[in-house]
Amino acid sequence: MVYAEVLDESTRPQQAPLSHSGKVLSRAVTFQFALDPNAEQRVLLAKCAGARRFTVNHHLARVKANLDARSTEREVLSDSGESCERSTPSLSWSGFSFINEFNAWKNGQSDDSPVNDDGSCGLAWRHELPGDVFECASVDAARALENFSASRRGERSGTSVGFPRFQAKGKVTPSFRLRNRATSGRTPSSQPIRFTDPSHLRLPKIGPVKLFGATRKVRRMIEAGRFHIYSATLTQRAGRWTVSLTGVAAQFHQAERSRTNRHAVPVGVDRGIISLCVAADANGVYFESFEGVKTLKQALATLKAANQALARTTPGSKGRQRARARLAKRHRKVANTRRHLVHQASKALVDRAQVLVIEDLNVAGMVRNRHLARSISDAAMGELSRQVLYKARWHGVEVRVADRFFPSSKTCSGCGEVKTDLDLSTRTYSCGTCGLVIDRDLNAAINLARWQPEKISAETLLVPARAALVSTA
Ligand SMILES: [Zn+2]
Repeated sequence: MVYAEVLDESTRPQQAPLSHSGKVLSRAVTFQFALDPNAEQRVLLAKCAGARRFTVNHHLARVKANLDARSTEREVLSDSGESCERSTPSLSWSGFSFINEFNAWKNGQSDDSPVNDDGSCGLAWRHELPGDVFECASVDAARALENFSASRRGERSGTSVGFPRFQAKGKVTPSFRLRNRATSGRTPSSQPIRFTDPSHLRLPKIGPVKLFGATRKVRRMIEAGRFHIYSATLTQRAGRWTVSLTGVAAQFHQAERSRTNRHAVPVGVDRGIISLCVAADANGVYFESFEGVKTLKQALATLKAANQALARTTPGSKGRQRARARLAKRHRKVANTRRHLVHQASKALVDRAQVLVIEDLNVAGMVRNRHLARSISDAAMGELSRQVLYKARWHGVEVRVADRFFPSSKTCSGCGEVKTDLDLSTRTYSCGTCGLVIDRDLNAAINLARWQPEKISAETLLVPARAALVSTA
């Protein structure tokens, strides 16, 4: 299983690095694989996830104690009316100082380091695990605190962020990150995170872990110096460990970016109700319908059965544990099926069209939709637009985003007549003016393909901010 997606802005490197073969690496990419660790490695992976929780909690407890002490002092001082200095200094919340503090603490070099039974100082089990687990966890704790303080200062949009939660075992998804500490230009075979053979990924202290799926593409990219791994994030969901290899890749070859066989006429993409999406060009020619909801419906039916089976079990019983595990597995299946389908569709669209027109989806409005089939297609369509945007950027394909109020479904693609209302259950569009009878989704796709921005502006001709990771070089 290989998926590539755009990174979060915060993990973007400042300057595009060079690979060992001299390629400029500027395209943010993630590859994901399911893992098949052996029994010993399973224990180690669980320990690493535990160490991450432990480290984050260590920092949160330290910061909380410091904040509490300072607020108590403030109260005491204001009560007594004295204007002397507070005795507890504030702590630095930077990732850098968190790393230094934790390293000193775990290595037994600070005053409050733990003391073991044999009289030695420091965290006894620190050498069993890769040191990077602690450092990345320290950085994560610092980032969570930064979000909290930015929110308190009013510098963060969205819902307000409270003091970071302590990471309770069983409450948080087991996960940890390891960096591939390698200087620019170093050959892949000498890097700490590397493929040792087609089915094994070597991780520091954990050794070669077997993985599922085809690795040929990513291995070839690494060998040719066209992909460099920055970090590996390991996560356990529904009992299965997966690894996400995050890094930077070289730009696509020019032939891949400007294929000669692309559809010259703009192609409109409308979300379907039965299929994932329907595409048609501006000439009114049907392009392709991406099926998918059927597969999802089947997966959802088994999900429903698993849910009912869970409800029939006795709380606290072994049977309930098993039923819960089965349910989690079904959830994973649904998520994976959906993700796979959406990736297939976005790749096909970007590969075959030169200009794509998609709807601007009102995400907040979509969440309110209570129809199951509709909400599935909405969610998938939101993800599809996201993928189309970054893949289009990779391939040099233009994406136009029609504004939210463009009546793509209500307009007749034959004569341009706009209906005042159109029920969601109406599957075919029939025009009272010109007599055209056409599939509803196809009609909408044609209208989208013909959509013209009133003026080419930053919003309409989309240079997606999130996908702008690709440098202009
Ligand atoms: Zn008409």
